[in-house]
Amino acid sequence: VRRRIQAVRVVNVFLFSFLLFWVLSPGSSAQARVRKEIEIPGIKGFITLKCDFHMHTVFSDGEVWPPVRAEEAWRQGLDVIAITDHIEEKYLDHKEDVRPGQTDHNRSYELMLPRAQSLGLMLIKGGEITRDMPPGHFNAFFLRDTGLLDTPSFKDAIKAALDQGAFISWNHPPYPKGKSVWYKEHEELYQKGWMHGIEIVNGRDYYPTVHRWCLEKKLTMLGTSDTHAPIHLEYNFAQGEHRPFTLVFVKERTREALKEALFKRRTAVYWNKTLIGEEKFLKPIFENSIEILDPAVTIQGKKRKYIRIRNHSDIDFELEAEAGSEAVSFYKNLVIYGDRTVLLRISGKSGELSGKKKIVLPYRVKNLLIAPGKGLLVELEVHIHFLPGTKKN
Ligand SMILES: [Zn+2]
Ligand SMILES: [Zn+2]
Repeated sequence: VRRRIQAVRVVNVFLFSFLLFWVLSPGSSAQARVRKEIEIPGIKGFITLKCDFHMHTVFSDGEVWPPVRAEEAWRQGLDVIAITDHIEEKYLDHKEDVRPGQTDHNRSYELMLPRAQSLGLMLIKGGEITRDMPPGHFNAFFLRDTGLLDTPSFKDAIKAALDQGAFISWNHPPYPKGKSVWYKEHEELYQKGWMHGIEIVNGRDYYPTVHRWCLEKKLTMLGTSDTHAPIHLEYNFAQGEHRPFTLVFVKERTREALKEALFKRRTAVYWNKTLIGEEKFLKPIFENSIEILDPAVTIQGKKRKYIRIRNHSDIDFELEAEAGSEAVSFYKNLVIYGDRTVLLRISGKSGELSGKKKIVLPYRVKNLLIAPGKGLLVELEVHIHFLPGTKKN
């Protein structure tokens, strides 16, 4: 009997210690839920929102449970996502597993919303209206009820979206044939003002033809992931890859301001480490990223000097000289790495110059695309005090 009492005491002491440890423990030490911000300097008068406007979940042909999409986006530094599950029966791959016997097109949004709100991520309710080409696939954003877009007729679906004040974009125009064709169906939508934006980037693909259309027809430029699998299965983030996203320049951080900016075409696209957009957006982004730490140097004769250039953004700017200079020689190619300071070597050309001169080095930034194949032209300005070289020099 005594032995049994002793055994019970030992167990009690053990349980008490465990309880004490549990009560006093500082909590979980899991640190995996971390957000990486994307540094891209802003434009005067606007807030830059980083947005992915196209993605799928198990509620259409995706492979991800809705709240996971919100957390993926938050961790990758995005501010806004739109959920755009396909509406048509044909693409509801998991419907018998997800909700047997009933289809609710608003459900993926509802499931995502609490997670998005807890992370401070703006969530936009959308849907992908999906038909064979032409007209192809269209996303509608800012919906109240996605279910109203579930109509046999394509035009009725578009109308149901427009009735809700939706913004409508044409998705991946070259799909499925690999060639971008502007059919009469698209012309009709465009003429009616039923097409507001267009994807010039979808996933890993950039479409130069569509980029040209977007500029000519004054549509809003979008670049989206259209992710179906878990995002980490689609991009090798450890190797520095990133998902494509759209930058939207808003007046304030609200849904209404986002919508206003989309209709006013204040967007740019970041894809494959390349920023695509109109010059009026890309130029200030470059200028606000770059700081010349040695804006004034002295050069004697043909000697060389190094100018330190700091890049405050996360984007590696790839520069190629547009022209030479009569006064100095300088690098033909220069990469100004993101979040780094690089050295630009310049040296006196003639050895005969003297006095102070402002020198402008013209470069094209190859990965700041203002039109298909056309990089942004920038000027790096340095003030040089030239001293004549000695005879030996
Ligand atoms: Zn699609
Ligand atoms: Zn899609």
